[in-house]
Formats: sequence, C-alpha cells, structure tokens
Amino acid sequence: MPVSPPGKLLLAAAVLLGAALAQAAQPADHPSAVTSPPLRTVAAHGPLAVHLPAAKPGAKKPQVTRKNQRTAAPSANWNLQAGGKVLYLTFDDGPQPVYTPKVLAVLAKHHARATFFVLGREAAAHPALVETTRRAGHRIGNHTWDHPMLTKLSPVRLRQEISTGVKSKCFRPPFRDTNAHVAAVAGEYHQHQVLWDVDTRDWEKPGVSRIERALIRGARPGAIFLMHDGGGNRAQTVAALDQALTKLSAQGYAFRSLPC
Ligand SMILES: [Zn+2]
Repeated sequence: MPVSPPGKLLLAAAVLLGAALAQAAQPADHPSAVTSPPLRTVAAHGPLAVHLPAAKPGAKKPQVTRKNQRTAAPSANWNLQAGGKVLYLTFDDGPQPVYTPKVLAVLAKHHARATFFVLGREAAAHPALVETTRRAGHRIGNHTWDHPMLTKLSPVRLRQEISTGVKSKCFRPPFRDTNAHVAAVAGEYHQHQVLWDVDTRDWEKPGVSRIERALIRGARPGAIFLMHDGGGNRAQTVAALDQALTKLSAQGYAFRSLPC
C-alpha cells in the first residue's frame, strides 16, 4: 500500500481540525448554526468608513483622527455565516419611541432579523421597547450608556460607560472611536466589539434614495450595515429600509441578527 507523503497527511489533519474548531466556535443559539456552511471570518470590505452622527446641540463635534481610524478594529474578527446570501442589519442609538417601532414593522414585513445597538440611558427610559424588540427575534447590543468618545475618557469613566450599558455579548463604540484598550475593556465584560462594513450614512439624512442605494450597493454575503433608529428623525431610514429590503429579498438575500 502506497504511503501518503507526511505533508499531505498533516494538511488533511489541519483541515479537519479547522472544521471542528469552526463548528465549536459557532454560537449554538444563533439561527445560522443550523444551516451554516463552513464558517469564515468576515473580511472587511474596502476602506473602513467613519461613523460621524450629526452633532447634538451643545455637543462637541467629534474629531476622528487618522490614529483613530488606524487603530479601529474592523468588524471582521468574528465568525459569521457568510457563505450564503446573508446580510446583517444593525440600528444604533435607540430605542426611540417613534422610529424604533416603525423599523420593527418594516423588518417584520420582510421577515428580517436585525441587531439594535442601544444606549443604556435610552434603554432605561424605554424598557418595554427593548423587550418588544427582543420578542420580535432581534438581538440587542451595547452602545454605551451615553454615547461618548471612549478614547477620550479616563479609565474609570470608560469602564462606567461600557458596564452601565445593556448586557449583551456585543459592544459597539460610538463614532467608531476605539482602540485596543477600549476593545480590551469591553472584552473584560465579555462583550465582543462589533463595527460594520457598510455605513449607509443615514444619519446625514441624505434622502431616501441615497440610503436605499447604499444598502443595495453594499450588499454582499456577510456584510454588516450601519443604520440608526435613534438620535434624530429617522423617517428616511424607515422608508429606504422598506424599499431596499423588497429589492434585496428579490435578489435572494436573507437578513439575520448577529449572535449578540
Ligand atoms: Zn451611535
């Protein structure tokens, strides 16, 4: 019987081990666990866009420096189902009594699941809305208590902002303002930093068609989209979402929540 070259055997063993580890890493409660093809780590798509929500009255305009951009960890370091046509919609800065229910209605209409990165202070003010969101099958992520620029805070304040946000396995830094220290502190609370691949820039209120276009153009298997249900008037976001989900569903895309 011919003997296989040792290199070939090693390669086969490595492939088997890799597959086993990928299965083990898959969160059991994530919907994709059942139908998932072999997992891959989602790669960042192109240069990372920077998230700069409209400044609130009295708030200092956030400065995103080159350093911030360079140190921002991409959303890539996570195993997600990406073999199929799956998109991950995320909504930040809520819950918001007017627009969150509208977003939920659009998602329900299209049988879509999403992830809501809520502010602790808003979740505390509208706990029923958070519960409604969870019951509809969506996941909740921590977007801090009060939406500060985390890299500007003292170590004590940084911990306060992360630890007083909602309990979740996911954490998203406001303004994409993060660094290795911020991510590490979130990790101490067992929260995985999640950024995004496509910023729809809905926070600029650029018009329904431009937000819709950002959704359609950004669609590719495994992409994470940034949108907002809180922080301002989100009528454009709601309308664009409805139109884009109609088209993307027709293209065969499904919409899942992140394993938060
Ligand atoms: Zn935000």
